[in-house]
Amino acid sequence: MSDHSKIEWTGATWNPVRGCTKISPGCAHCYAETFAERFRGVPGHPYEQGFDLRLVPEKLTEPFRWATPRRIFVNSMSDLFHEGVPDDYIESVARVMRTANWHTYQVLTKRSERMLDLLSTRLNWARNQRHIWWGVSVENRDHGLPRVRHLQAAPAAVRFLSVEPLIDDVGRLPLRGIHWVIVGGESGPGARPMRQSWVRNIQRQCRRANVPFFFKQWGGVHKGKAGRELDGRTYDAYPESEQRVAPPLEQRRRAMAVL
Ligand code: SF4
Repeated sequence: MSDHSKIEWTGATWNPVRGCTKISPGCAHCYAETFAERFRGVPGHPYEQGFDLRLVPEKLTEPFRWATPRRIFVNSMSDLFHEGVPDDYIESVARVMRTANWHTYQVLTKRSERMLDLLSTRLNWARNQRHIWWGVSVENRDHGLPRVRHLQAAPAAVRFLSVEPLIDDVGRLPLRGIHWVIVGGESGPGARPMRQSWVRNIQRQCRRANVPFFFKQWGGVHKGKAGRELDGRTYDAYPESEQRVAPPLEQRRRAMAVL
């Protein structure tokens, strides 16, 4: 876990799974792959195996060690619902999130069908857990909108969209049952451009539907220069969340032990 994250909409990252494989055009310039592959073959480095998918069970209970409540991006370096992650392991990750409930968890996937399937069956208890936010990535209409429909069908208390990297006009965005929308452009070498009209279209739909809107960045090769203002202001809205306090260390240790 990293207790600070440069990702604008989260506070920390937790990676009980590392590595992934590409599934759609939004993956073309995957930052996680670029980062992980830099360390392939470096003995003892967490990414010694590059971006190959692997479970990291020793990381499972990390949120318990963290007493200060955080927004935690779950698997920033992977996809929890990747076909290589067993159902039992996903359930273990979910149990940690349910028990270490002083944090807010942000679970983001491109494997929305599997997420729907599991949230409808063995993770069905998640429907009441307001501190676990379930989200899907949307980069364009063809790949993104079917994911939104899967998410809408999933029994969950809080659902969100990460419309990033936005590489096409998504047109009408289905927002029924959606509690938060993040929008961002691609950044880094070879970044695909994002038009202002695409962003305004989404911002307008969120305003009309009363959905909190977070504008992450314009992106581009030098993302710092392009900034994150839209029409002269920043958009940093979040869904409502409950403030909770972590139990004392001994209690957290006991909870960790029975998982
Ligand atoms: S699903 Fe996410 S982590 Fe996996 S390759 Fe695509 S962008 Fe990277």
